[in-house]
Amino acid sequence: MRNRMIAGNWKMNKTYVEGVELAQGLADQLADGTGDVDVVVCPPTVDLKGVSEVIEQSEAPFALGAQNVYFEESGAFTGETAPNMLEAVGATYCIIGHSERRGYFGETDEDINKKAKVLMAHGIVPISCCGEPLEVREAGTHVDFVVNQIKADTEGLEISDPSKYVVAYEPIWAIGTGKTATADDAQEVCGAIRKTLSEVFGQQTADGIRVLYGGSAKPENVAGFLEKEDVDGALVGGASLKADSFSAMVKAA
Ligand code: PGA
Repeated sequence: MRNRMIAGNWKMNKTYVEGVELAQGLADQLADGTGDVDVVVCPPTVDLKGVSEVIEQSEAPFALGAQNVYFEESGAFTGETAPNMLEAVGATYCIIGHSERRGYFGETDEDINKKAKVLMAHGIVPISCCGEPLEVREAGTHVDFVVNQIKADTEGLEISDPSKYVVAYEPIWAIGTGKTATADDAQEVCGAIRKTLSEVFGQQTADGIRVLYGGSAKPENVAGFLEKEDVDGALVGGASLKADSFSAMVKAA
């Protein structure tokens, strides 16, 4: 009932020209279709328009996502990007609350909650990230930590179509470190996330929301995560920067 999703987070990599090349490479590799798998690429903001044009001209069914948004509609917010600007370049998804934004740029759950609301008002699907740092994992309180993030990030949200809200569980200690969580680690937290979503939105909605795993996901390990009941896909950083490895993950899903 939930389509699987493979989303690529390019982070601060790829100039405009490199981004267009990568998107074109993916378009070629995925030209035969992606089955039931929803594929999303999230380039840096200045690459969005170029990647959007590649997607528009290609047969391959993949979608465009941004990596961040501001929660105001317009105005004096130097350096920020408004939701209608993302909409205008064809972005239909947007990552919010990535641990790098929480950690380096001081984003709070309150900001992330506002961003989700403003995106949904513009018909853009949030990919809302959560996940615990190493100290919390070592203390064994990771489930409570993530459950609290989910409650704060979803407060007051209204979800009429559960395919239009996505959660990504990314344990911070596994991001870009080569250290992956085990599939059982991912299931433990993704299961708790779905249970929390069912308390907030009701079981039927929770059953339709995709919960992705992220953190050193790659072609060799993605299938193991996807075997788990509550893991519906992957948010991929490093392995999304090459058309070969990213499309291999789509095929493995
Ligand atoms: P990684 O990044 O796959 O390079 O660990 C994942 C992410 O931060 O979204």
